[in-house]
Amino acid sequence: MATQRTMTHSCWTCGSDQPHRLLTKKEEDWLKERLGRKGVSEFRLCVNVLDPDTGKQCRNLRTGFTEKPFAKPIKVPVPD
Ligand SMILES: [Zn+2]
Repeated sequence: MATQRTMTHSCWTCGSDQPHRLLTKKEEDWLKERLGRKGVSEFRLCVNVLDPDTGKQCRNLRTGFTEKPFAKPIKVPVPD
């Protein structure tokens, strides 16, 4: 897969500006199922590394316009 460009947005759960990227096909499929929606192209995923030892990323979702699109944060699980 080609390297995706990241965009800097504020992240609600990190509490600061962080790089975000668009979702992969697998992640989009997961989110469509999770939300019961057909289109999720506006969502972006926070790639801030929370744990440098494991490389664990934040993976919290926002859209290009809304920092907090859900009542509770939705973090996309790492695909198998
Ligand atoms: Zn974050």
